[in-house]
Amino acid sequence: MPVAKKKLTGRQALVQVLRTCTSCSAVAEEGARKCASCGAALKPMKTKELCAEAVAIAPGLKGKTPEATMAATLAVSNKRGGEFVRTAPGEYDLRERHGRRRARAAS
Ligand SMILES: [Zn+2]
Repeated sequence: MPVAKKKLTGRQALVQVLRTCTSCSAVAEEGARKCASCGAALKPMKTKELCAEAVAIAPGLKGKTPEATMAATLAVSNKRGGEFVRTAPGEYDLRERHGRRRARAAS
């Protein structure tokens, strides 16, 4: 599927960046740990790099410092059992690639 042209939210942009293969730029399926096109492993990313790329594909985000907003989104999500998980200091990955640890009931 080609990259959607409609506006992405910050969260969607972060997910998309983490699902994009760094070798061939194919976007992986939900939960995939390897690229279906070239077989490269999909890895966690440094916060700075991840946020910068997410801002690049989600123009028009609210706030004066969209990268800081993105970083905050990651941190909150990690803490609350959301879709992003911190795998090392300054490094995040999609929780879908790490099993269902620490999933908290929403209600
Ligand atoms: Zn690939």
